[in-house]
Amino acid sequence: MEEESLLLLQLLKKYFSDEEISFTGEFRRYCEVLDKIDLLTSAPLKEVMEMLNESPFEQLEEVENTIHAKTTAGTLFHISFSDKNSFFKNLFITTGNDLHVEEVKKRIADFDSKYFSSEEEIYQSAGLSFILPELREGINEIELAAENKLPQLIEPKDIKGVVHAHSKWSDGNNTIEEMARYSMKLGYEYLCMSDHSKSATYASGLSVERVLQQHDEIDKLNQKLSPFRIFKGIESDILGDGSLDYDEDILSRFDFVIASIHQNFKMSEEKATERLIRAIENPYTTILGHPTGRLLLSRMGYPINHKAVIEAAAKNNVIIEINAHPWRLDLDWRWIQFTMKLGVEISINPDAHNLNGIHDIHYGTLAARKGMLSQKMTFNSRSVTEMEEYFTNRKSKIGSMAAKQ
Ligand SMILES: [Zn+2]
Ligand SMILES: [Zn+2]
Repeated sequence: MEEESLLLLQLLKKYFSDEEISFTGEFRRYCEVLDKIDLLTSAPLKEVMEMLNESPFEQLEEVENTIHAKTTAGTLFHISFSDKNSFFKNLFITTGNDLHVEEVKKRIADFDSKYFSSEEEIYQSAGLSFILPELREGINEIELAAENKLPQLIEPKDIKGVVHAHSKWSDGNNTIEEMARYSMKLGYEYLCMSDHSKSATYASGLSVERVLQQHDEIDKLNQKLSPFRIFKGIESDILGDGSLDYDEDILSRFDFVIASIHQNFKMSEEKATERLIRAIENPYTTILGHPTGRLLLSRMGYPINHKAVIEAAAKNNVIIEINAHPWRLDLDWRWIQFTMKLGVEISINPDAHNLNGIHDIHYGTLAARKGMLSQKMTFNSRSVTEMEEYFTNRKSKIGSMAAKQ
């Protein structure tokens, strides 16, 4: 969908190089669920229609001064039109949600009769610092922009390592070496491997023996691929009572543990929250994986008390993942500000089951930006040496905790 959209945008820009053309609406705001992709252009409707007629669309029609075009893959585009003079005003109006647009308009006298040569100018006239499209949801972005307190948002180039990946050892399609080499090729400094744990029989979870064999393989690969680094982890099932999947003797051998619920989804909110908090309190848990188990458009996930879970993560120094798979995007971006406020770091994790899956970091980053995630609070913006130090440090603390008991 995204690829098709970029192609169409490129095509329009090529044909109408003197006109203004932009995505707008929910797509421009990086909303997680879309029924259509909106574009706005100053090019003449008739000419755009003629151009599109030459490409193979499943459906192409004019509806009230808008072109509706459906591709053979099923993606629906709405192209709307604006004269050049009001283009940026219209872009602004069609991008933000109603709440946002109304609030900004209220701050500008004679908005309707004014001319703006850019969106920046609109925000300037409203006495606000520029608000990026993805933040225009009418939450608290206007308040922050008025005080010039919008954070610097995380960018793809800030992500230094791939966290949460599966290999052929469990239910992934590639070897660890292939996953590592591909991560290197994409410019990442490390790969945090986390195959499924032993209870995940449906996903070939690793027995204790297999864990030890995998660690040998990783040691060898690390010698071969240095300075690139593969960290040893596991995606441990959170069992029904909230405990993790291995004994301490095995848990202590991992650099990190992602704790996730994969089975027994039918739970009350109270039970699910309790189960997650028990897992968070386990000193071996480093990251909480996909907190609600949701699949957008198909599975609700289990209900949880987000506040209680995030507070427990803060108390126990546990990182929360944004599972970057475009169907998950879980933690939901609406909880990011609260999470950051409690000092809990967020890791943007692709949960890659093959090479291509690593690219999902892109979607996670978009969702994270929408929630105002900063680089400072992004767990995997650490460099490889910083990550190594972090894991070593964290593990030494678990050791002394265990000794005290
Ligand atoms: Zn999982
Ligand atoms: Zn996973």
